[in-house]
Formats: sequence, structure tokens, C-alpha cells
Amino acid sequence: MNNPKAIFVNVAIPLLIAITFALLVFYQNKIPSFLLGILPYVFYILSAIVMFISWHFNRNRFLFVLFPLVLIYIGFEFLPASKATLLFKYISIIFPLHLLIFLILSERGLFSLWGNLKTAFVVIETGIIIWFIEYPNPMILDIFKIKLFIFDTFPLSDISIVIGLFILFIMFSLILFNHFLMYNGSFLLILISLYATLYFVRVQNVIELGFIAIVLIILVLLIREAYRLAFYDELTSLPGRRALIEDMAKLGRKYTLAMCDIDHFKKFNDTYGHDTGDEVLKMVASKLANVGGGGKAYRYGGEEFTLLFPSKDVDESFVHADILRESIAKTPFVVRNKKSAKKIFINISAGIVQNSSKDKDPFATMKRADNALYKAKKAGRNTVIKE
Ligand code: GH3
Ligand code: MG
Ligand code: MG
Repeated sequence: MNNPKAIFVNVAIPLLIAITFALLVFYQNKIPSFLLGILPYVFYILSAIVMFISWHFNRNRFLFVLFPLVLIYIGFEFLPASKATLLFKYISIIFPLHLLIFLILSERGLFSLWGNLKTAFVVIETGIIIWFIEYPNPMILDIFKIKLFIFDTFPLSDISIVIGLFILFIMFSLILFNHFLMYNGSFLLILISLYATLYFVRVQNVIELGFIAIVLIILVLLIREAYRLAFYDELTSLPGRRALIEDMAKLGRKYTLAMCDIDHFKKFNDTYGHDTGDEVLKMVASKLANVGGGGKAYRYGGEEFTLLFPSKDVDESFVHADILRESIAKTPFVVRNKKSAKKIFINISAGIVQNSSKDKDPFATMKRADNALYKAKKAGRNTVIKE
């Protein structure tokens, strides 16, 4: 299960965007009319920019979400009322499912086989919708008349509400248990914004504002994703060396720094393979991530980690580093092969030092922590040496 704080952050950011736009819809009489007049252009331009960024960073799932959204908007703008009504009915059941599909499908190159299949899917989907707008089928139209609820869901059909609830349930489960929290949190709010937009479709400017909210949720997601790529390590999800260097520049007068290194890790890799080694790194990282005493863990590189304790002295921080060392040493790591499962114990060694007036910068402190680590290795490993 995901950490509640991470869930909160990843849902709160897109939620804030959605609420802002809901307020804009509500208080639109306070917005100058020329601004309301340019909303369609804002939507087109923003969509174009976000689609370009998505393509550029190979985050193509957003292309497959935004391109249909732009087509839908064009349909609402330019189709005669009777056809726009049909479009509304169709997309209110198809687009929510479309969102779910493109959230779940993994990211592949746009021009790979999978990319081509996805493009073909969107083209066929669009073709089918256009066909049934031109040639409405009475049997399909009957589906929209099915009554399932005692309350009135107009202009949404009951079937659309059922699909929405089903997808909502899946997205909530993904938010709780799947680790792509940033994506799941944003898609949840895209789904909710979509339904709110469609439900209030008769309110002035709601489509423009609702769709712009969706584009902005995606833009903010892309920006956060770029930040994550730059500052977080892919394997362990810990902040990486770049984040460490940034945080070291923000340190105050007193701090403590520990360098940690897994013991005999080369041998472990040689015996059990590199993939199992990666699993060990994740296990160790997940322990270090929960360091107490106001500390923060980073993956320095390879099987080396750094703990930073801002404003803490070495005695206080030592206790927390040693708790981690002991906890890692006591946690069995299970190596499975085809026939058996074997429990293995992993150790780490660490050197921990407080900054001193003689250190010309935090890197000098780090060098001393590295020397202390070297002593811990010499002293037989599975120890923390404080200097
Ligand atoms: P010591 O107790 O002295 O630290 O011994 P060691 O074997 O851990 O020595 P060293 O630090 O030189 O070895 C580091 C090894 O860590 C070498 C490399 O194979 C392994 N390693 C580094 N990065 C990764 C990684 O991302 N995944 C895996 N599986 N192994 C890694
Ligand atoms: Mg090493
Ligand atoms: Mg090592």
C-alpha cells in the first residue's frame, strides 16, 4: 500500500487545478468577457504545446489523450446541435474508458509496433464515432435510454455513470496500490473533471474551462515528471546525487552526513546475479528511506548511499544510522530460484561525521565520512563508525 503522504501530494496537486477551474466556472461573471472569448484559442494553443512536450519527452500516452480531446472540442464547436448531441452521448461512455486504457498501457515509442497499434486504435475509435454520428443506429441509441438509477443523471446517460463509477473504482485501487502514483492521481482528477464538464455541459464556457483544466493537469504532471527524472533514482526511487548536491548547498551551520556502502556486494552479484542484486538495492533503499531523526537518504551511486541530517549533531544522528544498520542486518532477503528459496542476510557499513569549521565545504565533510566508512570496512564491516 502506498504511503498516505505521497497519495495526498499526488492527488492534491491536480485536485487544486480542478477546484480552481470549478471556481472559474462558478464566478465567470467576474471574468472580463474578452478573456472568456479567447478560451477556445487558449485550449488549442495549450493542447498543442502539451502535445509537443509529450512527444518530445516520449510520454506519448498524453498525445493519445489530448488529440481525441481536441477532436471532441472541435466536434462540439462546429457540429450542428443534433450531431453534437450524439457526439456527447458517445464520448461520455467511450472517453472515460479511453482514459483508463491509456493510463494502464505502458509507454512505448510512438513509431514502435505498440505505438502504431495505439495510433490505429485511436483512428478506428474516431472513425466509429464519426460513422455513428452520420448514421445513428437505433439499437445503440436505446442503450443511452436504459434507466438504472432512481435519480436523474441527465444529460449523462445512466450507462455512462456506471462506466464512470467502475473506472473510478479501478483508479482508486491503483492510487492505493500501484506505484505510479503521479500518473494515477492525475488521471483520477482528469476523469472527475471530464465528468463534471459533461454533466454541467449546458453552463456557459464549461467545456472550454473543463478541457483547459484537463490540459493543465497533464502539463503539471509532465513538469513534475521531468523533476522526478532529474532528481530521483529510477531503481530505488530515492533522491539521487543531483538532489544531494542541491540539498548540500542549503545546509545550515550544523549538520551530520553519513556515507553507507553495502558489504561484499560484488560477491553477492557474482553469486546470485545482477537482477537479484538490484532487488537487494531496493530493499536497502526502502529501509534507508525511513531514516529517523530528521535525516534524508540519497542514492549516491551504485551500492553507496548518503544520509544527511540537517541541524543534527553526530551523536544524535549516529543512533539513527545504527538503527538502520541493525535493521538491515536483521532483515532476511529471500533469494528464490526454480527449486528453492534461500534466506540471506545483507549488511551495510557506514561512516558518519559532523561538519566542522575546518571543512571548506560539505564535500570536505563527505570526504571525511568516506574515510570513516573505509575504517568501518577495515574494522570488519556491518558497523557504523563515528568521527
Ligand atoms: P565492500 O564490502 O568492500 O564494499 O565490498 P563490495 O563488494 O561491496 O565492493 P565494491 O564497493 O567495490 O563493489 C561494488 C559492487 O556493487 C560492484 C557492482 O557490481 C555492484 N553494483 C554497483 N551498482 C549496482 C547496481 O545498480 N546494481 C547491482 N546489481 N549491482 C551494483
Ligand atoms: Mg562501494
Ligand atoms: Mg560495497
